[in-house]
Amino acid sequence: MVISEVRVYSYPIKLPHPFKTSLGETSEKEEIVVQILDESGRAGWGEASPSTTILASTPATITAALEQLAPILLGEDPRRLEWLIGLMDEALNGNSPAKAALDIALHDLVGNIWNEPVWIMLGGYKAEPIDTDYTVVIGPVEEMVADAKGLVARGFDTLKIKVGLDPAKDIKAVTRIREAVGEGVNLRIDANQGYTRQEAVWALRRMEELGIQFVEQPVAAADIEGLRYVRQKTGIPVMADESVFSPADAIRVIKEEAVDYINIKLMKSGGLFRARQIADIATAAGIQCMIGGMVETNLSATAAIHFAKSHQGIAFRDLDLGVIPEERLITVGGATLRGKFHYLDPGPGLGIKELDTERLGEPLAVYEQSNKGRWERKKSAV
Ligand code: MG
Repeated sequence: MVISEVRVYSYPIKLPHPFKTSLGETSEKEEIVVQILDESGRAGWGEASPSTTILASTPATITAALEQLAPILLGEDPRRLEWLIGLMDEALNGNSPAKAALDIALHDLVGNIWNEPVWIMLGGYKAEPIDTDYTVVIGPVEEMVADAKGLVARGFDTLKIKVGLDPAKDIKAVTRIREAVGEGVNLRIDANQGYTRQEAVWALRRMEELGIQFVEQPVAAADIEGLRYVRQKTGIPVMADESVFSPADAIRVIKEEAVDYINIKLMKSGGLFRARQIADIATAAGIQCMIGGMVETNLSATAAIHFAKSHQGIAFRDLDLGVIPEERLITVGGATLRGKFHYLDPGPGLGIKELDTERLGEPLAVYEQSNKGRWERKKSAV
């Protein structure tokens, strides 16, 4: 049972409304999609989501990374996940989105081989459908209030409000949203590294009475001491997002007592395998996790939802990913959002039945077992 082929595709997304955070605005994206095939023709699908600001990646860096990584998998048994993920990490540092694409496709393929859904393979913690929050992006205060009210009317009872550009305006926006939606709605905020330590403390102290669940990444990703400083100086729990990519990063923020929570994203961790290790580390330390994502299609979003259902450490879900028609790569199967709940196709792997092959088009690159190019593959230890 060996991997015989890896195909790489490009998938364009045009958003109807720009997604604005303190790091910038997104209205168009090009996702990189991979398909891994085994000798008997079984397939697994995965996705890499580029982001220059958070993930230091573009479609070009992802395809270049795949040029290094995809040939490593050829001729290997896809069920040997620990071995394969280790080979990829040895071959190329960083480049977590490209690794995430291959990791997600491997899990989908192995699920198809074992005839089990990925969330069962990974532990099968929560059988019931999971709910998600929904994001209110940065805009004029009145627009943010209207967005929040609209989301509550659609059935969402947890909102994530993007802040971090202007502390005084943020206080106004969050206060107005709290007044508009009432006490029964959970509010969490995400500054995406936008504040200095002093701005964060100033703004968060003024939001303490608003019943905020937590603040995501108030200060710069590299400023672990700053996270601890904000955590000590305010009453709002602090969640690391951009500060934690890897299991080693998780250990660091826990050791430094810098955070109350950790936000896991498959694009940061390099896929499900390392995401699980982060959740294990956090759970052992008594730190609860959130699972979130980038602007992605419903392919990698479906993988994130499988992950959310698999692990006891995932207490919060920020999975408003792949839910608008423009982000639909899986056309039949995968995850479906109804109200605030995600429902998974019960099929094996990620439960993918059909994809939008028309928008996917022809592959950008195909790596075949017979044509390994200049890559010298490491020999298996077995
Ligand atoms: Mg965040």
